[in-house]
Amino acid sequence: MIPASILVVDDNATNLKLISELLRFEGHRVLAASDAEKAQVILEGALPDLILMDIALPGMDGLELTRLLKGDTRTGKIPIVALTAFAMKGDEQKALAAGCDGYITKPIDTRAFPVFVSNLLAAS
Ligand SMILES: [Mg+2]
Repeated sequence: MIPASILVVDDNATNLKLISELLRFEGHRVLAASDAEKAQVILEGALPDLILMDIALPGMDGLELTRLLKGDTRTGKIPIVALTAFAMKGDEQKALAAGCDGYITKPIDTRAFPVFVSNLLAAS
């Protein structure tokens, strides 16, 4: 497993903490943002290997931020995985249409999640 730098964007504090802890346990460096604007500030000073992006965020949503990042030559190559709520049918298609490279359904499966992330990092 290659340790990576991963930006997690989620406005749900419990979810942000859970995902961050799972990733840190795997040896990854985690950057955490509770909204799109904070994520943009972090990205001005860092280029992570992967972004985990909640779709439903206050203010700018995850789809809009994904479009902005994918359209920017500096950040366009960073893989973005959407965090979509299981109940929200159609979110997966919207996430892929916005430029996300994949999606994970919430609530997070804490066993499958680290495997999913390492496979994704190995592939990118
Ligand atoms: Mg949210």
